[in-house]
Formats: sequence, C-alpha cells, structure tokens
Amino acid sequence: MNLKLKRSKAARLSVLVLLLAVSCSTSPTVAGSPEPITVPPTATSTHPPATGTPLPTETPVPTPTAAPPVEVCFPLAGYSATDLPVILSQVFIPPAPGKDDGHHGIDLASYTSGRMSIGVPVQAALPGKVAAIIHNRPPYGDAILVETTIAQVPVHFVETNKITSEQSLYLLYAHLQNMPALQVGQDIPCGMLLGETGLTGYTGGPHLHLETRSGPPGVTFESMAFYETSITPAESKNYTTWRMSGLFTLHDPLPLLQAMTIP
Ligand SMILES: [Zn+2]
Repeated sequence: MNLKLKRSKAARLSVLVLLLAVSCSTSPTVAGSPEPITVPPTATSTHPPATGTPLPTETPVPTPTAAPPVEVCFPLAGYSATDLPVILSQVFIPPAPGKDDGHHGIDLASYTSGRMSIGVPVQAALPGKVAAIIHNRPPYGDAILVETTIAQVPVHFVETNKITSEQSLYLLYAHLQNMPALQVGQDIPCGMLLGETGLTGYTGGPHLHLETRSGPPGVTFESMAFYETSITPAESKNYTTWRMSGLFTLHDPLPLLQAMTIP
C-alpha cells in the first residue's frame, strides 16, 4: 500500500515536472519576463507582415496609424520595371523655362520584330480619380488624366520631387485607343485598364506617353488640345494651364516605375 502510494506520488510529481519543463521550453512568455516575444501576423491584421519583429513583453500592439503600403502597378500590362531598358522608347526632357519644348514625360512601347506593337493594354500605375478624359485631340490623342492623393504615392517620389502633402500627383496617359467608358471623378484602382497603346494624337508609332505633374487637389479638365487651328479657346486654356501656367510642377515619371524593382 505504502509503496503504491509512494509510486503514485512519484508519478504525479514526474508529470508535474514534465509539464513545467514542456511549458517553459515552448513558451518564452512569462509574466514579467524581460524576454521579447514575436507577434505572429493574423488574418485580420492590417499591419505589414511581422516577420520576426520582436516586441517587448506586455507592450500593447500599436494601433495601425502608419499609412498602408503604397501600390504601384506597371502601366504596360505584361511588363515590369526590369523591362524598362527595352521598352523605354523616349526619356524625359525637361522644357526650357517658359517654353513648351522638351519631352514632358516618358514613352513606353512594346516591340515585335523591332516595330512598336499596337494594342498593348495600358493600366493605371497608381490608384486615383479620373481628372480628364480627352477624345482624340492634338497632341495627346485619346488620353486619360488621373489624380492620386499624395498618401498613395511612394514616399521616395514625393520627397525627391519636394511634393507637399497638400498637393496631388496627376498622371496623364496619352496616345491611347479603345479607352473604356470612364467618367471624370470616377475612382480607379491601381492596375485598372485605361485603354491600349495606339496612334492617336501626335505620335510616330504606337506607344504610351506617361506624364506626371504635382498640383492642387481636385482639378479636372473637360477638354484639352493645342497646336491646331481647330482647337477651341477652352481646350487651349486647359492645355496651357496643364503645361505652362506654373499651377502644376512637372516631374520625370521614370523613378516612379523604377522603384517597383525594390522589394
Ligand atoms: Zn511622349
């Protein structure tokens, strides 16, 4: 009987010791312990993936005050930043002060057997709101202007170009064809189809002309055209407001797309 009791006590003790050992080895989180813990990402978390980020014990998880990650989509469907050396057909050339010369954007073209391909899908590089839809007018042809709030623009691009948080970034996609039915003011996500590379406007071959300017938020244009006798005063006024008035500041769009190579 005594022996049985002793054995039973010993068994209970060894189970207890085992439990304690297991408990200590699998959970470094002991109340009051200075040991750091790792908070695994949860399905509902809005934080970026917590890849091994140590947090001190008993420190509450901070509320997500940081801006969500900024998304940039490559404007020519099927291509990425690594293709830029092949598809960049014209670089940005800043205009002389007070003049409308230079090249106000970059040109991207897909090539087949050394010739520019027509009909390559063009998609929104950034999310935003449609600020203008231009139907086959000189020099941009079929074109779409999209306004993006600064919070949705990569920080490096905002800082390098000294864009303030009160401004917006406007992206113009020109020389398109087959534009979808969009409305000015419509919200569009990053990657949304805006049309295809075409031959509209002043262009020698089908390509996307992409232009970026920062400026006051909420600007929309009902029309825009220049360089032809057929243009209306309103079209001319909007063109000069966009390109020469000083209301908007021109930026080279290339760094916006190059940044996509950064993981
Ligand atoms: Zn161009």
